[in-house]
Amino acid sequence: MKFDTAYCISLDDKLSIYDVRDLNFDETVDFDSDREYFLCPHDACRAAFADENKLGTFNAKNVNYIRTPHFKDLPSTQHINGCPYGTSRATGAGLALDETDEEREAHFPSELLLTRRQYVRKPVSTAAAQDLPPMPPPVPAATVSTPRTTPSAPLDKTSVFAHPVECFVSNYADKDKLKRMPLKIGEQTASYWSFFKKIEYLQDNKGLIYWGKVKAIKDYTLSVRVDFEKKVWFEGRPYSVNVYLSKQLIEGYRKRKAFLEEIRLAITNDRPLYCFFYGTTPALKQVPSKKDPAKTFGVFSGDIQNLDHFIIREAPGLDEA
Ligand SMILES: [Zn+2]
Repeated sequence: MKFDTAYCISLDDKLSIYDVRDLNFDETVDFDSDREYFLCPHDACRAAFADENKLGTFNAKNVNYIRTPHFKDLPSTQHINGCPYGTSRATGAGLALDETDEEREAHFPSELLLTRRQYVRKPVSTAAAQDLPPMPPPVPAATVSTPRTTPSAPLDKTSVFAHPVECFVSNYADKDKLKRMPLKIGEQTASYWSFFKKIEYLQDNKGLIYWGKVKAIKDYTLSVRVDFEKKVWFEGRPYSVNVYLSKQLIEGYRKRKAFLEEIRLAITNDRPLYCFFYGTTPALKQVPSKKDPAKTFGVFSGDIQNLDHFIIREAPGLDEA
């Protein structure tokens, strides 16, 4: 059984697996999903069992994944009768994911929030415990039968860019679904299909998520340039497209290590890679020619402003695109 969300004891909140990945790679927070306890997101079901009734994670720490990340039952995981996440599978509930959906992200967030979600750890009961790795707090016997009150996290929204990207990539073969599912970012709303714009058509509309097959990644040590395979046609001529990631941007990134690993894997990878980004629309610029600095040539180029909204990854389903 796959789960789109799980309850995390130490954060006292329900998280998506993409939230968990974001926390795992964030160097500014002390979080390691292997040390955390994730429980069934159904309040009554969770309350019926001890904290050891954990869920497992899949692809929570893998920088370069292909198969859709998710929470899953461990062999020991139990659910109450009637739990929509139970193995009996409630039909039509839309909560439990079927085995046939194993390879696809079935939970489409309706909005990508541009402000990062804040997580507050539960206060640790004793001062001595503060230097220890986070442990699940003991549950007093009297409260075991009472569901923990869970803050109303907007679970149909996400602040992790990788989540809508995974929806798009894993469901790419089902265009009708992508055309049906709505996505909002900032003030703009469109279907998933329309919000993800092929890089060669970037002139169609500003402020979308642009994506395309990567032709080359130039690591200049100080900065990174990603060249796209497809060109943009403008006034009857084809122009190359690229995006820049400045050294300052990379050095100051809270997930720097994971990002550099992503880039390193990408540069050494022979398989096709795709780049997705939001927050900048490449525009026509004149840049000096390397061979003859006195001359310039035109290129569609954009500067990435926020690495939280930038991904390079494998996406086998997009190879025929
Ligand atoms: Zn359950």
